Amino acid sequence: VESGRHGPLIGAVDQGTSSTRFLIFAAGSGEVLTYHQEEVVQRFPQEGWVEQDPMQLLDSVTTCISKAVDNLKNLSIASDDIKAIGITNQRETTVVWDKLTGQPLYNAIVWLDARTTSTVEQVLKRTPGQDKDALKNICGLPISEYFSALKLRWLLDHVPAVQHAANQHTLLFGTVDTWLLWHTLLFGTVDTWLLWKSKFFDIPSWVLPDIRSCSEVYGYLNDGPLRGVPISGVIGDQQAALVGQMCLARGQAKNTYGTGCFLLYNTGAQMVWSTHGLLTTVAYKFGASAQAVYAIEGSVAIAGAAVRWLRDSLGLLKKAEDVERLAGGVEDTGGVYFVPAFSGLYAPRWRSDARGTICGITQGTTSGHLARAALESVCFQTREILDAMEQDSGISISRLLVDGGMTTNDLLLQLQADLAGVPVGGGHSSGCSRIAASVRPVDSPLEQSNTPLRDSAFIIEPWVGDSLRYPNYASRNEVIECTGQLGVVELHESN
Ligand code: ADP
Repeated sequence: VESGRHGPLIGAVDQGTSSTRFLIFAAGSGEVLTYHQEEVVQRFPQEGWVEQDPMQLLDSVTTCISKAVDNLKNLSIASDDIKAIGITNQRETTVVWDKLTGQPLYNAIVWLDARTTSTVEQVLKRTPGQDKDALKNICGLPISEYFSALKLRWLLDHVPAVQHAANQHTLLFGTVDTWLLWHTLLFGTVDTWLLWKSKFFDIPSWVLPDIRSCSEVYGYLNDGPLRGVPISGVIGDQQAALVGQMCLARGQAKNTYGTGCFLLYNTGAQMVWSTHGLLTTVAYKFGASAQAVYAIEGSVAIAGAAVRWLRDSLGLLKKAEDVERLAGGVEDTGGVYFVPAFSGLYAPRWRSDARGTICGITQGTTSGHLARAALESVCFQTREILDAMEQDSGISISRLLVDGGMTTNDLLLQLQADLAGVPVGGGHSSGCSRIAASVRPVDSPLEQSNTPLRDSAFIIEPWVGDSLRYPNYASRNEVIECTGQLGVVELHESN
């Protein structure tokens, strides 16, 4: 085993809705040296409910770390080259546990879960005019089943063990990152968190974790093969994808196709309020005293989950990847449309009462048509988010940077390019560093070589100096600064 061959290494825990991974990167080159991945179990105990076992999430993380470190040893690389660890995770999934025993008090309520409809109604009654956007100018979010505050309120209202722990002052709440941090390191304090939140939702403030930046040392691993290594980065999965795609300047955006689909648009130091159903969120804050950078977000609940449904509930597929061949076996959907609103619709509609539908079925409809309609449904939902962003900003997107588990599917990316009218390509983190799909009917402004980028673009090419990887865009490889209000973005070219 050799030390230092690849320079310092960084480990990344990616605790997602479908799986957990631990990846080991060379810090200098960004190369993934090895990783280990395990699927995680989702339970559907009632209609609209989605749960996971917090202990299984935790175990999957420790297993992935151990196995990835074993892989590293097999590559003759010393594990003490790993100098820091980061955590990214499925964001709104809610865990409650007892601070004395460390045991969960209920299953994790997954972000997709829609059980909190009556909690939402009850909370809405407290707002003037029962307005689901009543808190939007405080927290950037609508009052919706999706968000963890509603899930925590539901737990406090419905689960005796949680109520008991609250009465005993032993209750702790966290999203999955906090749950993992609390268990994997010597983590002490539980501080007050956005007071208004605890007051509005009537949640005792001592239940809530401290708010910290994305980049600071939170503590050191207290067990396992990487004992003593600092955990020094924590960021939600969608924000992590934005950073991974190098969308670090105002005006840059990416779309991630996993269980759901999330488009984040960097708005810089300015919080921008959407009037078309998009969220306002913190994108990242690199250090306790750093300036926070914000984003607007278009969230789609069901993307890869529709493919999983074809696999697990309809039995049309053995593996999720098989959807590409099935959907590629037909020329179009034969007029079939699929709206996978399994637990309502998120952005831009925020309709918790919506449910899925498949229409246009004829005698000639085949499983191929259904599979293709499922892929198209993801693209149509993304198109709707793009339209909302365009209406908010007045500027249309020139190309779509994509990543996530579904983006190995070329047919999906082609359908997306066609349905959004823009080229679709991979960025730094996607594993597909290429223009994956150009719009087939040549009607995108970017396909017409004389169109100046400034007229059509809000996405700034993040791979400046990297033109070889993007031959189609070599001539457009300018550095562009983006200033002004989102509604009146000005793009300036510079060298
Ligand atoms: P998450 O981060 O939400 O756990 P991932 O980014 O790991 O999700 O992507 C997993 C999702 O992608 C699953 O819902 C799966 O059904 C879907 N998926 C994986 N491979 C493909 C494929 N080739 N075509 C379409 N969907 C796919």
